[in-house]
Amino acid sequence: MKEEHWSKRTHYCGTMRREDIGREVILNGWVQRRRDHGGVIFIDIRDVTGLVQVVFNPEISKEAHETAGDVRGEYVLSCRGVVRGRPEESINPKLPTGEVEVMADELTIISASLTPPFEIEEDSDVDEALRLRYRYLDIRRPDLRDSLIMRSRVTGEVRSFLSSRGFLEIETPVLTKSTPEGARDFVVPSRLQPGKFYALPQSPQILKQLLMVAGLDRYYQIARCFRDEDMRADRQLEFTQIDLEMSFVQPEDIISLMDEMFAHLFRETLDIELEIPFPRMTWHEAMDRYATDRPDTRFATEIMDLSGIFTTSGFKVFRSALDGGGRVRGLRVEGLSAPPRRELDGMVEEAQRLGASGLVWAVREGEGLRSPVAKFLSEGEISDLVKEVGLAEGEVIILAAGGRETDPILAGMRDYCTRRYSPAPGKRFSFVWVTDFPLFDWDEEEKRYKSNHHPFTSPSRDSLDYLEERPLEVTSDSYDMVLNGIELGGGSIRIHDPGLQDRVFRLLGLSQQEAQEKFGFLLEAFNYGPPPHGGIAYGLDRIVMLMAGRESIRDVIAFPKTQSGADLLSGAPDAIYPDQLKELRLRPI
Ligand code: ASP
Repeated sequence: MKEEHWSKRTHYCGTMRREDIGREVILNGWVQRRRDHGGVIFIDIRDVTGLVQVVFNPEISKEAHETAGDVRGEYVLSCRGVVRGRPEESINPKLPTGEVEVMADELTIISASLTPPFEIEEDSDVDEALRLRYRYLDIRRPDLRDSLIMRSRVTGEVRSFLSSRGFLEIETPVLTKSTPEGARDFVVPSRLQPGKFYALPQSPQILKQLLMVAGLDRYYQIARCFRDEDMRADRQLEFTQIDLEMSFVQPEDIISLMDEMFAHLFRETLDIELEIPFPRMTWHEAMDRYATDRPDTRFATEIMDLSGIFTTSGFKVFRSALDGGGRVRGLRVEGLSAPPRRELDGMVEEAQRLGASGLVWAVREGEGLRSPVAKFLSEGEISDLVKEVGLAEGEVIILAAGGRETDPILAGMRDYCTRRYSPAPGKRFSFVWVTDFPLFDWDEEEKRYKSNHHPFTSPSRDSLDYLEERPLEVTSDSYDMVLNGIELGGGSIRIHDPGLQDRVFRLLGLSQQEAQEKFGFLLEAFNYGPPPHGGIAYGLDRIVMLMAGRESIRDVIAFPKTQSGADLLSGAPDAIYPDQLKELRLRPI
């Protein structure tokens, strides 16, 4: 080629449409596929927008056709040609560019490629480790590429929404001091101060509160956070938060602003109109209705308290649960009728997997119940149960007796049954706010109270009177946003009164000295006029995962780590040189 015409690109491959017919174009991209049809060569060229078919006909250009003969998969090409409509029989309706093709008259091979270690195709069944090792090739696949494009659009829209509402984007340090989220810290040894360590932030919590003390009023950041935890499908050692904080606000202000932000995000990136305000329920209500604080409200089924039916029951299991202050609760299995035995066995297995010793199920059969416990129940109990639940012929109910320890089993069974039997949900995205979490949880192992959120979360005003007397009944000004059963984010109004903060620290078993050591710099700042303030942080990875319809956050992160924290592409974590260790005054173990 005479000149490097790749620098004169006129169009992107995936954008070619009927309207472009007759246009002369210069396209650059990678070879998806080459087909030699005796004389004429077809090459699908792919770039960030998609792919288009380019035709090399020796009658148009002998030279270009010859060069096309040398091309292999994943070579980088630049070509010039004219767009034309495809003949009727070769129109490909599955491809956005399927109505056209480009008749090439010039072709340059810009880069060659080795044969890739896996085929760069949608749904090709390739080991994930291999994909991660060659992530830059994997990202050439349209679904991964599109997830990253979606991610960029989401962060762009977050920025534009928040900045239009007066938020300032402010960066906070990555080399910092331990933050209060309660996970294990990543630490970085200091060379300049041997023997001392920075901690990587688990969140910018304290720093954003300091920015409120500084008078900046509204802060946000797309912030990288680090937590040295065991990883699950939706966890990574480093992850990204949409983090924000506001001054002079009540929970209502934050909640309604976030409703608007999500309506904006979904409108701008998915063209979906969400109905706002999102429904809200208190933590107590969520636990009563769904036995979890992350209810998947796409499904209507709720957990029922059936204790009333069994108060005088002769069935020992139910009676002893009730006598011990527990409840008998039930879950009607929607979408399942007259199940064969193996479905019921499947449910029992699932319950055992969730930690239950067994599972009580009952199927309505005529006036009675088919159930392993039917013989222990009186006729009155059976008919009351059928009536109260509204159990139709053939329908199944699951029963659980006990205290809070049965929550995860009931919630897990609700998930299992809705996934398996419920008709597809009418709503694709079902948001709900869960508010007023308990301020403390009781840690049975350590025999002490722990913050349910973090120690700066404000108790609700009406529970201040019994803070010390009945700490476990104290609720907080906190809120979580849940989408389809997944917690997207959470936040709270913060304590800005040093006296109240002191009372909370004391209940947490933190002495003044310990509090000073850990958070002294925040407490000191509170001596200089802290405004009332509150905020929230979202897991960006999860938001994009759900918006892009992906299963794992790894699918929306450019360079994720494996379950064991390895970066298979770069080989991190890795050993360091003895000299580096020496410089840091560290000894190998
Ligand atoms: N920093 C908190 C978290 O990471 C969120 C917040 O309270 O704003 O969970």
